[in-house]
Amino acid sequence: MDPYTIFAEIIAGRAPASKVYEDDDVVAFMDIRPVTPGHLLVVPRVPARNLAELDLEVGGKLFQVGQRLAAALRESEVACDGVNFFLADGVTAGQEVFHVHLHVIPRTPGDGFGLRARPTSPHRADLDYLAGSIRGALDRVDRSGGL
Ligand code: 5GP
Repeated sequence: MDPYTIFAEIIAGRAPASKVYEDDDVVAFMDIRPVTPGHLLVVPRVPARNLAELDLEVGGKLFQVGQRLAAALRESEVACDGVNFFLADGVTAGQEVFHVHLHVIPRTPGDGFGLRARPTSPHRADLDYLAGSIRGALDRVDRSGGL
């Protein structure tokens, strides 16, 4: 596994970052190309490339710190009427830096941020079928101790 990413360099102190928080598990800093002013990234210290490689407890910590930062954004000078969390897991999901990170994005009306999607209206039977498939897979993931 190649541990090099720009986030590993930031965590090691070899690349600059505008940090807002750090503890034993995670570091949070300003995104260098913010989609809205105040856009933050919460990054685990361990160089997990994707969610499958990330310890569940550290994953929980990412969310906890994200929650605290969302509250801080609303209290700060950043214009923030709402917050989006975003996490890209895999190339197809838009991941560009292969060190897991949670985006914490402050929102204001008309800020231009958004997700493009084409929602559908499946029948209940189709939802139930896929739900059953995912339940089975979750059981296998849990039994394999994969996470
Ligand atoms: P992804 O598409 O992988 O979810 O997001 C990667 C994010 O990392 C992007 O929002 C990008 O602007 C940010 N980023 C890339 N390089 C750097 C950097 O050197 N410093 C900081 N602070 N953010 C970066």
